[in-house]
Order: sequence, then structure tokens, then C-alpha cells
Amino acid sequence: MTKLVSKWNYPTTVRFGAGRIEELPEVLASVGIKRPLFVTDPGLAKLPVVASTLKILDGAKIKYGVFSDVKPNPVESNLTAGIEAFRKGKHDGVIAFGGGSALDLGKLIAFQAGQTRPVWDFEDIGDWWTRADASQIVPIVAVPTTAGTGSEVGRAGVITHEASHTKKVIFHPKMLPAVVIADPELTVGMPPFITAGTGMDALAHCLEAYCAPGYHPMADGIAVEGVRLVFENLPKAFENGKDIVARAHMMSAAAMGATAFQKGLGAIHSLSHPIGALYDTHHGMTNAVFMPYVLAFNRDAIEGKIERLAAYCGIRGGFDGFAKAVMKLRKQLKVPHALPGLIKGLDMDKKRKTLIADMAIVDPTAGGNPVKLTKKGALALLEHALAGEV
Ligand code: NAD
Repeated sequence: MTKLVSKWNYPTTVRFGAGRIEELPEVLASVGIKRPLFVTDPGLAKLPVVASTLKILDGAKIKYGVFSDVKPNPVESNLTAGIEAFRKGKHDGVIAFGGGSALDLGKLIAFQAGQTRPVWDFEDIGDWWTRADASQIVPIVAVPTTAGTGSEVGRAGVITHEASHTKKVIFHPKMLPAVVIADPELTVGMPPFITAGTGMDALAHCLEAYCAPGYHPMADGIAVEGVRLVFENLPKAFENGKDIVARAHMMSAAAMGATAFQKGLGAIHSLSHPIGALYDTHHGMTNAVFMPYVLAFNRDAIEGKIERLAAYCGIRGGFDGFAKAVMKLRKQLKVPHALPGLIKGLDMDKKRKTLIADMAIVDPTAGGNPVKLTKKGALALLEHALAGEV
């Protein structure tokens, strides 16, 4: 029986709505940032969405610096360079602007710039976060431009440890942005592949959080509505990127997924993390590939829950109907059905498969899977995802 003992954390102030990016100067003032470092990625830095946001800062005569050396799936050298830019510019806060990669790196710069210990000492293990000097963490304003990771409402940043090819989660409660501006107009420029991948990331967060064991009825409620929003709006946003209503609902679903996953994630993420770290694939798209295989793997433990979820979402046919709806959604979004469709020229030998399974079972998300993820189970899931056999 589930023990009715738990710890609940809820997000931060979110200024939600089209056009609200105009409020950025006022938001900075409200959290006491006078000299922000604007952190984004190099692709976005070239797009009008960044130029128009910087214009708002110029209009308010705010002295800011721009840092955009952030690769998708950011690495330690990005963080080191970002901290250097932060210190050199004598900044007092961070505007993290972009998808999960830029948001995470911006949050990590704000967290790490004043610390003396290496960032790896603050990995999300036990109470390692208490090693940090919290007084040195500067405020963060987060502005998402994708709708998937929900990093804007999260207290962690993901960064790849290059030497071990491992994605590490760095956690501190003060890494939670002080204010979020969630303006769906900023997401209209996302190309369909990124719309699909990020949207499926939001779905994976809601679904895995809902299925994770543990007592968190609030997270469950948020996750269930998040799943419904994704099913109803992701195909619309994918078909017509300018559909601002669908974009807005996806932005909500993304924040809801990240709020819900404080309850836990599961094997979709445990396998997706090593694949992302080893092959540099898009995180959400990798989750989307693994989703039906993991659903089938967990079936015995989650069937009743998924029946209730399907009913709430208006999907007929209980567990099977839900699994079919996931397959249909993937097809609509052109998600590759098997790993070789995601990673061109993929050729995995036994040693590589064993490495991935070994990494999956120690991934921090593995503990949230409703069925214990053993090495045998992780290997079986990987084989299914390679062969495309659900
Ligand atoms: P991303 O940030 O890597 O961005 C992907 C691409 O989309 C980039 O080329 C970027 O330039 C482009 N892009 C972003 N917004 C755009 C826009 N509005 N218009 C046009 N192009 C745009 O992708 P993501 O999926 O948002 O983030 C993935 C990262 O987030 C991974 O590193 C993953 O590990 C991390 N992540 C973090 C958390 C968390 O809780 N902190 C959760 C899930 C994932």
C-alpha cells in the first residue's frame, strides 16, 4: 500500500500570456536585477525573437550582456565560459532565454558563478545541494521559447559530463527562477521537428510522473490535465506553428509536466538520457521514440491508472486505446518509430548495448519507474526500441 507521507513543492510566479515579454524590464526590477546576463543559444541568437527582446531591454535602458555559447545538451565548457562572461560583466542576475538547453545553462550560471566547489559536487544525489553557498546564487528570470522541458519552473539544470558521457542533474532549490515569462508568441518560430520533440517531452514528463509510484495526488492531477492538453493541442501546433491557442496550451502543458515530475520520472527518461549523452540526439524526440516500448513494459503495473487517464482524455479502449493514441500521435508528428530512424547509421554492438543498460539503471530517473528497471529489463527495452517491436 502507498504510504501517505510525502513532500510537495510548487513552482514560482508565472506571467503567462501572449505579448507579456514586454513586461521583462518590470520583472527584472521586481527581483532586483539591474545588470542581467542574457543567456541564449547560438541558433536563437540569430532569430528576430532575440533581437526584439533585446530591443525591449534597450528601450528600458537596461545594461545587459549576451552569452550564447550554449550547445543543445549543454556541456561543462559552456558553463565555464558562461561564468567567465558573468563575472567579467559584473552581472547581478540572469535572463535564461530559450529552450531547455539555454534555460538550464542560464540557471546553472546563476547558481555556480559564486560557488567555490566544482559543479559536479552539486549533483542531485541525497542532500548534496546543501553543500552550496545559497547566499551566492543570483536571481533568475526564465523565458521559455520551446514548450517541452518545463525547465522554467524547475529547480534543476541538466549538463553533460563529457568525460563519462553522462547527463548529470544539478539541483538546488534556489535554482528555481524567481519569475517566469511564459509568452506563447515566442514559440511560434519553432520548426516542426522541435515542436514535435519538445511537445513529446512534455507528454513524457506528465505520463511518467503520473505513473511513478508514491503519494502525490496534486502532481497526479496536474499530470493528467497536462496529458489531455498535449493530445488536444500538439498536433495543431505541429500542423500550424502560428496557432497561438495551441501554442499557449502546449506552453502550459510543458510547465505542468515539470511541476508534476517532482513526483518522479521513469524508464523513458532512464534510456533517453544515455542515448542523448552518447549520440547527442534531441531529448524530447528520444523520449518520444521510447514511449510505446516503456508503456508496454510497465503495463501490468499501470493498466488501471492508464484506463482512468484515457477516460479523462476522452480516449476510448482503456490501456490499449491509450497505447494506440500514443502511436497515432507519434505518426502524426513524424516521430521515428525505432532508434535507427532517429540516429542515422546506427550500429550498436553488444558492448555498447550493455553500456547503455548499465547507464540506464543508475540514471536518477530509474527509481521512479513503476516496474523495477533491472539491467535485463533495460536491455530488453533497448532491443525493442532498436527493432521497432512494441
Ligand atoms: P533546445 O533548448 O536544445 O533547443 C533545440 C533547438 O531549438 C535549438 O537549436 C534552438 O535554437 C531551437 N529553438 C528554441 N526555441 C526556438 C524558437 N522559438 N524558434 C526557433 N528555434 C528555436 O531544446 P529543448 O528540447 O527545449 O531542451 C532540451 C534540453 O533540456 C536538453 O539538454 C535536456 O537535457 C534539457 N532538459 C531539462 C529539463 C529540466 O528539468 N531542467 C527537463 C527536460 C530536458
